[in-house]
Amino acid sequence: MSPRVVIVGGGPGGYEAALVAVKAGADVTLVERQGLGGNAVLTDVVPSKTVIATAEWLTIAHRAPELGIRRPDGADLASSLTVDMAQVNSRIKGLVRKQSADIASRLASNGVRVIEGEARLAAPHRVVVGGTALDADAVLLAVGARPRIVPGCAPDGERILTWTQLYDLTELPEHLIVVGSGVTGAEFAGAYNLLGSRVTLVASGDRVLSREDPDASAHLTEVFKERGMTLVGGRASSVTRDDAGVRVALEDGTVLEGSHVLMAVGSVPNTEGLGLEEAGVELDERGLIRVDRVSRTTARGVYAAGDCTGVLPLASVAATQGRIAMAHALGDAVTPLDLRRVASNVFTVPEIAAVGASEAELEKRGLFYEVSRLDLARNPRAKMLGIDEGFVKIFGHKVTGQVFGAVVVGPRASEHIYPLSLAVAQHLTVDDVAGAFTVYPSLSGTISEAARRLHRITDEA
Ligand SMILES: Cc1cc2nc3c(=O)[nH]c(=O)nc-3n(C[C@H](O)[C@H](O)[C@H](O)COP(=O)(O)OP(=O)(O)OC[C@H]3O[C@@H](n4cnc5c(N)ncnc54)[C@H](O)[C@@H]3O)c2cc1C
Repeated sequence: MSPRVVIVGGGPGGYEAALVAVKAGADVTLVERQGLGGNAVLTDVVPSKTVIATAEWLTIAHRAPELGIRRPDGADLASSLTVDMAQVNSRIKGLVRKQSADIASRLASNGVRVIEGEARLAAPHRVVVGGTALDADAVLLAVGARPRIVPGCAPDGERILTWTQLYDLTELPEHLIVVGSGVTGAEFAGAYNLLGSRVTLVASGDRVLSREDPDASAHLTEVFKERGMTLVGGRASSVTRDDAGVRVALEDGTVLEGSHVLMAVGSVPNTEGLGLEEAGVELDERGLIRVDRVSRTTARGVYAAGDCTGVLPLASVAATQGRIAMAHALGDAVTPLDLRRVASNVFTVPEIAAVGASEAELEKRGLFYEVSRLDLARNPRAKMLGIDEGFVKIFGHKVTGQVFGAVVVGPRASEHIYPLSLAVAQHLTVDDVAGAFTVYPSLSGTISEAARRLHRITDEA
């Protein structure tokens, strides 16, 4: 008999695992209460990156005059453009539906049984949905997380919003206050500012994106200011609204007034009421499921993946954890999760992509490293494209040249980080990176050049 796998949650942690498990010969049932693709597709990654695509397009228009593009009447192109928010959001909803439907048909054509409903664990090997019990040899929990609600700042879905509620807006907020300057807060603040909203960003640290590379975060802070965004330090203690707008009170007594507020202050895992602790699945003090590097929980046969584990809240990490869980459960070769190889990106304009170790980690680990940093503005292709900002930074071992990590800031940095991600994953050296051809002229020429600058002439004598 085929091993029976039950997966709870149809986000990247769940659906990727389902596909791996059927391929390995398992009989797979996936339970999802909201829609396939999970929050990643329905409310988080897909919609946010789609609204950002519109915002990014506008920055290309800003470069038009320099490139010799004008309207026939001589007017400046960028300043004559306006954004139709109803159309932007209706496009987003269409894209979300399509992506969710594509995942549904992929699961169906691969033979995954999908059950709509809310699941709970009745025992380590038994999942219950409504009145139906599903017995399993292995269970994977990939139940994700939801926006954290600060007491006194409860969303109303109209003017006080979480990131899942932005897509019902039919008009651009006149003045959006964004509370939280982590990745989510910075991405939306940047995007709405470009779309044409006045934006005030409330940062609890001294700069935006304080967990990113310091040069990258300093650059984005400057870019935001230059674009007219107001940056305010502090933490929100309460939010009120009336028909005309919102008032955001900060802990230091400052009161900010705007038309809308977006609360982007982190997530909480969807782990309550699932019967987890009763089944022997241990949670930490924040309600996150404890897992090891092969996605095992503390209950035998129960695995967990994605945002409900708090390992690293990225769709790619969720999917990897889910795949590893299935490989482990079904007896395939298992490579434990290695967070030192993760590539990530902040979808601001410019983007900030990073892979491997950050400089702060290298210092903490006491590694013998060197940094090479080159600005994109010197790159010939960048000049042709009118790109005058961004940089490539590579961290390499001082003696062996092994690439430990890298940061790319620039347009589509998320695409340009891949060769450096390969280098980190495959333990390549800066000479390996510099030795591969790049196209001339291309932005990737700067990656190769930055690596070349870390070359050491070895004394073989
Ligand atoms: C605004 C925003 C933008 C982001 N952008 C990016 C990005 O660009 N790149 C990136 O890599 N990551 C991004 N992330 C992070 C990414 O969204 C998450 O890491 C990813 O969604 C985690 O996947 P998951 O499978 O763990 O959970 P989810 O995608 O949250 O899916 C979990 C699913 O489980 C279902 N579920 C929960 N409980 C039950 C139950 N009891 N029964 C049945 N079903 C249940 C839920 O309905 C949900 O559909 C972003 C996050 C946010 C908030």
